[in-house]
Amino acid sequence: MLFNPALKYLSMSKLRSTGKVLLMHALLLLCVLSGVTRAEWVVRDANIMGTTIHAEVWHDNPVVAREAADLVLQTMHEVNQSMSPYIERSELSEINRSAAQRAIRVSAPLYEVIERAQYYSGLTDGAFDITYASVGYLYDYRHSVRPGDRQLKQHLAGVNYQLIVLDPASKTIRFQHPDVRIDLGGIAKGYAVDRAVSRARALGIEHILVSAGGDTRILGDRQGRPWVIGIRHPIDKEKVIAKIPLVNEALSTSGDYERYFDEDGVRYHHILDPRTGDSARMVRSVTILGPQAMQTDALSTSVFVMGPRRGLALLESLDGIEGIIVDSDANLLFSSGLQNVE
Ligand code: ADP
Ligand code: MG
Repeated sequence: MLFNPALKYLSMSKLRSTGKVLLMHALLLLCVLSGVTRAEWVVRDANIMGTTIHAEVWHDNPVVAREAADLVLQTMHEVNQSMSPYIERSELSEINRSAAQRAIRVSAPLYEVIERAQYYSGLTDGAFDITYASVGYLYDYRHSVRPGDRQLKQHLAGVNYQLIVLDPASKTIRFQHPDVRIDLGGIAKGYAVDRAVSRARALGIEHILVSAGGDTRILGDRQGRPWVIGIRHPIDKEKVIAKIPLVNEALSTSGDYERYFDEDGVRYHHILDPRTGDSARMVRSVTILGPQAMQTDALSTSVFVMGPRRGLALLESLDGIEGIIVDSDANLLFSSGLQNVE
């Protein structure tokens, strides 16, 4: 949930005010300082799943806090081993090699993530679609490589979530077309964050923040104060467009500045519109707030593809979900739960 006394920080004029941002910095510093004097926070940073993992854990007993922090990193490694498309022996790679020929049995966590991905495909009318990867692999953002029109058209035949057949009884997955590939980059980090937090909670942890790149989940508060999460400006890296005070919440940001290259004034980036196989360009960034990171992760990617009008309509239809969109003209748009906060 949003931390009520500080909701006013979400108003547009205030978001733009440097004074307020400085004040929030001071508050954040205060939080950190009080944390140091009153309890032990265990902090861990690592590079796993191709992104930066950050965990902050508190417990009366520092041994328990350290054990939980280790468990967070272990969870990230486990999810990566199963769901990475870059690890040849991962279950995901095996699916992509063989699921067009025969039904592949998968682990319960992977089955759950794919099933949830399919749910979001239905909810978003195909804007969220893990088979985007059937064209996604033709892009190489680091080397400014993109498919030509003919190549794109040809491979688009494999982009359609309805070509995935899941069998809940045998926990198998099968593709109905030889060109289908899947990638869980739009949902697996959220899943991993939720799983890490729930494992920490099972150890007795009530105050924790876990983030994997743009996906964050928070349990409890930070020494009686909210956690303060900054959302960066999509164009100016140094600028923060909003500092959001939160307790017990998940949030995810998708931006066109994560993996991209520019060519003739056009940005080619890692979030693709499954209908065209081209990068989605109606927005620059989307931040979603909600109870669970798997939800906010899938929805930030979805709303990015759907654009401001359809994206906001989707957010309004969902209970407990709010969002902030930076559109292609750099306007800030808020879902209704964040608008009338002054
Ligand atoms: P990140 O935190 O990696 O920037 P996002 O949550 O913004 O991730 O999602 C972007 C990732 O989602 C891409 O890197 C890709 O793996 C995957 N993706 C891209 N387009 C789609 C789509 N239309 N549906 C589902 N997943 C997608
Ligand atoms: Mg996402």
